[in-house]
Amino acid sequence: MSETQPTDALTLSGTPRFDDDGLIPAICQDTVDGSVLMLAWMNVDALERTLTTRRAWFWSRSRAELWEKGATSGNALAVHDVRLDCDQDALLVMVSPAGPSCHTGARTCWGDDAGPLLTRLAGTIESRRGADPETSYVARLLGADRSLAASKVAEESAEVLDAVPGSDHQVEEAADVLFHLFALLARDGVDPLRVLDVLAQREGLPPRWLRDDA
Ligand SMILES: [Zn+2]
Repeated sequence: MSETQPTDALTLSGTPRFDDDGLIPAICQDTVDGSVLMLAWMNVDALERTLTTRRAWFWSRSRAELWEKGATSGNALAVHDVRLDCDQDALLVMVSPAGPSCHTGARTCWGDDAGPLLTRLAGTIESRRGADPETSYVARLLGADRSLAASKVAEESAEVLDAVPGSDHQVEEAADVLFHLFALLARDGVDPLRVLDVLAQREGLPPRWLRDDA
């Protein structure tokens, strides 16, 4: 939580088509994991502020006023990109969220578990923490004995290399590596999705200065 806020303004290619009320819907998507976080409305001022401050601004239809997402909750959205759809009447706002995007406290306005596969996988693994190791394999992986999760990562990695190159079997073993790698990281107290953040930074995206470290 801090430092490097981008300062250069974003540009929008194309001319937005606002509706009769002067509004355009803005879909906010997590740049790193692809989750659709929320939908809100922008007027020309909100869009302009969003592009220049690289923070998400919207128009509240109920309060009839501009509002900056996170101004009171702290759960701001750092904006990496804004683009128009094919009809120029809907915006996609690519963001890094500072915290839960929904006013209910959920990660997204469609719930905590709405999200792409790897995000759901990390959530599923986390949900098994504290489960009965007798009945939950994931709970065993997350348990005090690190050697189980660690040896599974090594074992499954070797199986990827041993599988016939290009075979379906190789892909299945690779999936096993990903699963056990996520479990090992979770077991070690690391949010597995931080791997996605590192990859995103290598793609040139700003560090997740707005996202809480898990
Ligand atoms: Zn919501």
